[in-house]
Amino acid sequence: MRKKIVAGNWKMHKNAEQTEDLLNELIAKIPTDTETQVIVAPTFVNLASAVAHLEFTNINVAAQNMHQAEAGAYTGEISADMLQNVGVNTVILGHSERRAIFNETDALIASKVDTALEHDMTVIFCFGEELKDRQSANHFNVVENQLKDGLFHTKESDWGNIVLAYEPVWAIGTGETASPEQAQEMHEFIREIVRKNYGKEVAEEVSILYGGSVKPENAKEIFSKADVDGGLIGGAALKADDFAAIVNAI
Ligand code: PGA
Repeated sequence: MRKKIVAGNWKMHKNAEQTEDLLNELIAKIPTDTETQVIVAPTFVNLASAVAHLEFTNINVAAQNMHQAEAGAYTGEISADMLQNVGVNTVILGHSERRAIFNETDALIASKVDTALEHDMTVIFCFGEELKDRQSANHFNVVENQLKDGLFHTKESDWGNIVLAYEPVWAIGTGETASPEQAQEMHEFIREIVRKNYGKEVAEEVSILYGGSVKPENAKEIFSKADVDGGLIGGAALKADDFAAIVNAI
């Protein structure tokens, strides 16, 4: 049985105080006996306090990004060691905002993936097509290339530390969601190309999350699809009631 995961990507929201408030609400609202792995990704400056705050809970902490180098003259950047040193062992890489706004290429993302895996961190690898790709029926190609160029250089033994997050760019923060059928169709395709590259066992074991305007109202139907193993949640992760409802929708 592969893991069910709901992860909240807080993006550049919530200062220290607001982070603490939201975490307190989440601790109160997320069932302690859920089998779903629950993850929150606050901003860098609030990671250490979030880890401390969540120590005796079932909520895990992830970073939203990291640098690929071990250390050095990289003003403004954060290394894998720095994350692990404050107790963060999961990192979101390749988010569409990193790709589009900060010009992260597949090659750069691939090297971040390598660094994270060398550190035995878990990678939540994000990818997904833009609207123009879907409109030109090129979405399967785009997704396959992002996986090939960003992730498929990794070894089979790395895949215990890899989670996939399919996030169609046209559905992120737009209120527009892929239909459950569109999500399932793509997730099935993704699992098939993982199988072609790494074999049946890896394909069956890897969790594939859907991201893009997941809300309490649509989560249940999306999560009910056979190849959808959870979600990466943006906007709705900033409200404890919504996020808890999405966790409960699995
Ligand atoms: P959204 O963001 O839920 O606000 O669409 C998802 C994401 O960017 O991970």
